Amino acid sequence: MENPCKIMCFGDSLTRDYVPLFEKKFKEKLPEINAKIINKGIGGETSRDGLKRLDQILKEKPNIVIIGFGMNDKHNKQQKISLKEFHQNLIKMINRFENAKIRALILNLHPLYEKDKKTIEFNKIIKRVTIETRIRLIDIYNYWTEEFGNPKKGLRSGCHVNQLGNEIYCKALLQTVPRRNMIILWAYNGISCECNYHCPYCQYELQKGHYFSGTINKWHKGFKKSFGNQHLVFYFGHGEPMIGKKFFDVVDMIGKEPNWEMRIISNLSGNLKRLVSARVTKEGRLNINGSFHPTMISAEKFLEKLLFLRKHNIEVPAVYTLWPPFFKRFEKDFETFNKYNFLIHVRRFRGNYKNKWYPSAYTEKERQFIARYTDDATIKYMLHEEPTTGKVSYTGMTFIFVDNKGNIGYCDDVRITKYHSFGNILKGKINLLTKPTKFKPENVSDGTVDGVANILELNYRELENNHILSFARQGGVCQTDKGMFYKNMNTDFNDSKVRAEYNFMPRNLKDLYYILKLSDDKIKKIKHIYNYKYAYRYPKIKHKIKNLLKQCPMAYKIYKTIKK
Ligand code: SF4
Repeated sequence: MENPCKIMCFGDSLTRDYVPLFEKKFKEKLPEINAKIINKGIGGETSRDGLKRLDQILKEKPNIVIIGFGMNDKHNKQQKISLKEFHQNLIKMINRFENAKIRALILNLHPLYEKDKKTIEFNKIIKRVTIETRIRLIDIYNYWTEEFGNPKKGLRSGCHVNQLGNEIYCKALLQTVPRRNMIILWAYNGISCECNYHCPYCQYELQKGHYFSGTINKWHKGFKKSFGNQHLVFYFGHGEPMIGKKFFDVVDMIGKEPNWEMRIISNLSGNLKRLVSARVTKEGRLNINGSFHPTMISAEKFLEKLLFLRKHNIEVPAVYTLWPPFFKRFEKDFETFNKYNFLIHVRRFRGNYKNKWYPSAYTEKERQFIARYTDDATIKYMLHEEPTTGKVSYTGMTFIFVDNKGNIGYCDDVRITKYHSFGNILKGKINLLTKPTKFKPENVSDGTVDGVANILELNYRELENNHILSFARQGGVCQTDKGMFYKNMNTDFNDSKVRAEYNFMPRNLKDLYYILKLSDDKIKKIKHIYNYKYAYRYPKIKHKIKNLLKQCPMAYKIYKTIKK
């Protein structure tokens, strides 16, 4: 998000009351953001009153404004504000903020009792306003009803909020305000992607052909209509993005909008000279991750490309997939890049090699080798294929997949109707989630760093600039004055406690003990270990765990309960 950042909370008494707690929690959660949170909540105000003091708000030049009106519009007998006027007042406010390039967000209203019709009516107007202006909604109503069976639980008197209610406001605000980016994984050239390389370990459904549909103009208008002035980050990593016929048209389209950024993951075989001369690059809005493929190019040649890009102020990490035959050469390649202070982002291989499924087929030694070079989230989620289903994530809210026909989904399961219910960019009709929800398709975040970083339990901030560098840094791998720092270089992955934390498989009773100890809910944990995490992926381990469980009386008792 913006840093430093002036956040103005603009509204009525509800705003006035949530700000002190919000300020405290914001500072605790995001200490690195130099934020100034200003309380502009005035008791009894309606949207009409708010409009009257708009000039004064604009004069203070905030970066973000959180609009919170409606509760008094609903009840003010003197002003008699109609739904129509409420709608117009909000639109007028938002237009002024947008014209002044201020990021505006809007809160809806919490219910006062069950099936609170009037609140629902006003909230429908707020929702309509967000669709018309394309600003983000902070869906208090949704958080509130999910948290409290009886809405009164969050209230102090009348419509005013108690401590519990203000906690809900803060939760909703902290999940929305710091996430400025809308990340769009755009398969602009088709889901069955194309590549000029033929890596023996490629997992993509490669298919020759160009499947761009519509015109660049139509897409440009579609994105504008769908997201208004939101900060968009276009992310290309499906096959080799640079070989698409329209690639540079897409680059130029993004370049035209100062509020748009671009991230690509590329084998760097394309026209780099053309790329560095693009507007989006010159304005520092392009980030590249270089995927290094040793069977297709030498480390020295790849290094030349990295150095060329560095000369043009683009710092590119080398993404290295540890396909089993690469273990022999990895350290030498690592040295080639490390000598020049390039970060090597190690990824696990996912697929079949010699009739074995990886990463589950990695030996214990190989697993520990990979873990030394990589960051925490990659170890926990990618190396061990920890299922993401059921984990709470921002996917569908601030991270979406768009196919070459404009359909929006969680991931490339956009092809399955039930996953593209978020609308269509080209038709300009979109309806994204307004709060983080449980991850649905299991395999999304197994593959992308953005997907993993979107899981709330990891506590990752929004990925900024180069997403791989930002992701790695948050997981303990970063650049320092003395060179690159790999947090797990000396971690003892034979220690049972460490193994449990990093989702390593249990080898003995002690490992199992620590896995169980980590969880408050032991039944759930054992069920998870037994049924999901290992059972279908590791048939031999299933047998081993069963035996381990039998040796541990407490665990075996729980295991038998599960079997019933
Ligand atoms: S460069 Fe990437 S997409 Fe292309 S073949 Fe290799 S792994 Fe597949």
